[in-house]
Amino acid sequence: MRKFALTVFIAVALVLSAAAQTPPATSATTGSQAKAEDLTKTLVKVAKPEAPPADIKAGFDTIGAKSSLSMLSFIASDLLEGREAGTRGYQLAAEYAASLFGLWALTPIGDMAPRSFTMAQFMSGATTPPRPAEKTYWQEFPLMETLETSSRMALEVRNGGAVLNREFQTGADYSSISATGDVLTAPVVFVGYGLADKDAKYDDFKGIDVKGKIVLVLSTSPSFISIKPQPAGAAPAMSMTGMSPKMEALAKRGPAAILVANPAGLDLYRYRSLLPAKSVPDESPIIRKPYRRMSIPGAAVPLPWDKPAVIQISNRTADAILAAAGRTLEAAKKKIDDAKKPSSFDVPGVALTIASTLKTQMARGINVVGMIEGSDPALKSEAVVIGAHLDHTGRFEDYIFNGADDNGSGSVGVLNLARAFAANPKKPKRTIIFALWTAEEKGLLGSAYFVKNPPQPGLKTVAYLNFDMMSRTYDEKSLAFAARTMGVPSSPEFLKAITPANFMLINFNDGSGLGEAARDADRYVGLDLYLRAAKTGSLSFGDSDHSSFNALKIPWLWPFSAVTENLHQTSDSVDKASGELMEKVSKLMYGIAWTLTDK
Ligand SMILES: [Zn+2]
Repeated sequence: MRKFALTVFIAVALVLSAAAQTPPATSATTGSQAKAEDLTKTLVKVAKPEAPPADIKAGFDTIGAKSSLSMLSFIASDLLEGREAGTRGYQLAAEYAASLFGLWALTPIGDMAPRSFTMAQFMSGATTPPRPAEKTYWQEFPLMETLETSSRMALEVRNGGAVLNREFQTGADYSSISATGDVLTAPVVFVGYGLADKDAKYDDFKGIDVKGKIVLVLSTSPSFISIKPQPAGAAPAMSMTGMSPKMEALAKRGPAAILVANPAGLDLYRYRSLLPAKSVPDESPIIRKPYRRMSIPGAAVPLPWDKPAVIQISNRTADAILAAAGRTLEAAKKKIDDAKKPSSFDVPGVALTIASTLKTQMARGINVVGMIEGSDPALKSEAVVIGAHLDHTGRFEDYIFNGADDNGSGSVGVLNLARAFAANPKKPKRTIIFALWTAEEKGLLGSAYFVKNPPQPGLKTVAYLNFDMMSRTYDEKSLAFAARTMGVPSSPEFLKAITPANFMLINFNDGSGLGEAARDADRYVGLDLYLRAAKTGSLSFGDSDHSSFNALKIPWLWPFSAVTENLHQTSDSVDKASGELMEKVSKLMYGIAWTLTDK
């Protein structure tokens, strides 16, 4: 997964977690919401797998653990340098996938091959291009990368006739996690914990107008309000924007910018966290890799966290701003905590100026696309798209983020299915499009471009099968994480019924019935499955390319393996991948794809 949200999530977590941070009240999650669930509807167990039907067996048998690991070893090798969208490493991966599509004789449905004249042809008066027009496996589009080149934050305090100006220093006094390219000057309002909780009868915004102002908010939650367990099906703790629900709710009130201060963290600790790590231990913690923001120019899809700017400030900076109100950050917080009541206020006489300048540069966006046309004259106008993102987060200094599980493994899933359908003598009635997306990690850009610019415009897409992370087997720890964040049951009854190493979570959109296709296909595979119908709007922890299809109301299904501490770290390497699991999930998806394409 990208997890589009995850990268941002980690970036945010890094900034916020410099010191102890209490989770925002609205984001508390619990795995103990196990209302006695009827597991016969959601749990799939197979006593003994059957042999697949004869007419799909040839393809089924091409899928194996060793060949899966073989392909993964190249895709996740250091040579490809983490396959970041727009880089040479990504292009090598795209060349590799396209060459395999060609080897298996898939129909190319990408851009036309260039047909430019050579100078010699031009000189000799040639009027027709040298080669016949032919399609390629690449669907290309421009990516625009935006970098912050400089920023400024300055305070002006008017006290009677005196005017005090102060410039803050980037990296020490403040750090920006979103740059807007704007210059703005606005008054400052302190809003305490930034919390409005009806049940607790607590509202930091009562009688306070934040619209058009720069809001200073504490990153933590009040200790005197108990955190309620999150109800089942509630929005995830971190959403698409990568902001916490508290920040999102605050952004909706229309502030000019948000300054976040962490009163529990010592500035000393915060500064230390800003220094580059000297060495990275084996099971590496988090390396702070600068996030490269990308978008598709002209696509008019603003990045969701673009505005308002969210800026982390040191306690020293907060004190300098609040001094005009005769407060310190600590004192302002203590007043709330002692009275257990909100104490928000406009900071008198101050104007804060925040400015950033951006630089943009263009990069190549490449989706790899191939097709097997349906065998039924009527039904071949309907298509099932099978996709995975091929990109990952690249490299940083000497560190390579190989992205073996995320999403080398899913890319191999698409390759496994392309080879299997190509090898099977019988072809399904409907058309299949095999796709490897770029720039998922930059905000699902490749799949978003594809659904808006379908390379075969006459086809109606009837379902999307997403591969994103399928090589890490579950254990006690990752099951507990899945229970906390993705609604997987944690009841003793459930845990007793499954074998963790043989377990797979199957996400699909509610109402599509695709879970039943997974149950059906599992007869030939024998994985322990949990069928999770995700409600629209609360898809799952983080996000993936199924969102691009979900937006068009196209049914989707996404198997999801264990989330480990290696996610988005340099330690997400091929040696940790389970070839057996990749084989089983690929075979399961092959069976599901047959159900969807041939029924
Ligand atoms: Zn991913």
